[in-house]
Amino acid sequence: MYSQVKSKNTDPISNSIKTSLEQILQTPYPGRLSLYEKSPDLEISIEEFEIFALDRLKVLKEVELAYIRGPTTEQIQKRIIEVSTKYLPLSGRKHKPINVLVSERRKDYVSHFILRLSFSRTEELRSWFVKQESNLFKARFMNFDKEDQELLFTAANMDLRSISESEAKELDAKTGGYCGVDNFYEVDFEKALDLVYKRKVVLIAGKAYVPRSEITSLLVEEYRTRLNDSTIVCGRALPRLEGDDRLLPVLQNMSAQYAVTEYQSSGAAGEINHTDIDKLSKYFPPCMLNLHTKLRENSHLRHGGRMQYGLFIKGIGLKLPEALTFWRQAFSKTVSEDKFNKEYAYNIRHSFGLEGKRQNYTPFSCSKIISSNPPSTGDYHGCPFKHFAPNRLNQYLGAVCESGGAGSDMETGRKISEIVQLAKQNHYQVACTRFLELQISNRLNAKSNNSKGAMSGIPNNDLISGNAESSIVVEGISHPNSYFDLNFGNGKIIPKDQKQKVQV
Ligand code: SF4
Repeated sequence: MYSQVKSKNTDPISNSIKTSLEQILQTPYPGRLSLYEKSPDLEISIEEFEIFALDRLKVLKEVELAYIRGPTTEQIQKRIIEVSTKYLPLSGRKHKPINVLVSERRKDYVSHFILRLSFSRTEELRSWFVKQESNLFKARFMNFDKEDQELLFTAANMDLRSISESEAKELDAKTGGYCGVDNFYEVDFEKALDLVYKRKVVLIAGKAYVPRSEITSLLVEEYRTRLNDSTIVCGRALPRLEGDDRLLPVLQNMSAQYAVTEYQSSGAAGEINHTDIDKLSKYFPPCMLNLHTKLRENSHLRHGGRMQYGLFIKGIGLKLPEALTFWRQAFSKTVSEDKFNKEYAYNIRHSFGLEGKRQNYTPFSCSKIISSNPPSTGDYHGCPFKHFAPNRLNQYLGAVCESGGAGSDMETGRKISEIVQLAKQNHYQVACTRFLELQISNRLNAKSNNSKGAMSGIPNNDLISGNAESSIVVEGISHPNSYFDLNFGNGKIIPKDQKQKVQV
């Protein structure tokens, strides 16, 4: 499929700006957007191979960030379209000559397959790739005109039929005026099970009549399913690439740099010891504060909690000897010294890379915590925005604000209700980001009201961040340790040369 030969430009050249439908239908890329079903059979230089892949990776990482930052569908859509237009443009046929269209579509098509190859290696990589690709597909589809959308439906071969005006009137009559006219598509009901389950379609004689507003979700679901299956097949074929020293390093490098969620320790609090943890816990994200509180209450945490919390405090700067002391003392009421050394110390050393595979484990990202096994009774790992019921989340966030010295005024209560709403709509990281902003704003406002900062609970490092501000905006949270860093620096990452001034 690929070689180191420079690609030859065999694209037809047209002097006209506008491309006719007939012209584009005769090219290898008739549709503006593709379902990427057939792997490309063409020659491409290794340089192009790398550039295409890197550009697509930039887009997919921005897609992930757009969903983390949110908060509205319109803003997410706008960001995705901006970045995809910059790196992977897909112009409409009425605006560009055919050679440009073919070149854009070729890049889009080929780059998809390169990353598919790169991201099929593990389940985690596959799941990330399928998620971002599906969201990119959805944003682009929604941005296209009707002709491009219809072409895609035809290519998707989903047996989806746009109903005629007379059929629409008939349907409208049968549903007592519920349907309106000309806005429905007919599809076998098995293809729309998700929409049937959500009661968003009209069912008549084995056919589902899908409103135009829901057609995007039908198509995106179909695309997601097909892509997921394809990546599994691709993953099985990957061992055939073993020994290819041109492509394999490039592919491995691509998938290694995917995660915007990969945390680079900033050591915001400098080097800390086990006695600092209680004092620092007021800057912890809700997930870690919950684990810390339960550890103190029960003098114990189960395996899932120990992993999530242990790697987090390692990430904020607790070195191995201090970590061993911290856990030994934390468990002292329930676990004897002997038992601790036999059953727990090994795992702590293991997480620092001193036992077993000697892998130096990194703290869990939000997406890993959110998508991992949910906590069962007696477990405290997980993400409160995902795993707490709305009432419990509301109470918990209120209690966190109160214990942070920010009080629980009506404005805080109202903002917490909005945050719980975001969590209910599955925008967990957006909700978490808003909560961080609320925590910082409340803390700075409380400090501002008490002008000399004599109020208890106000950290000295407020001085580093400058004046109090009534409202703080931070980047989307994708990692609990980033939450800590930003909370500790009042919305900013404290510069390295100022860290020694930070005292808790
Ligand atoms: S969104 Fe991330 S940082 Fe926030 S509570 Fe959930 S897992 Fe923790």
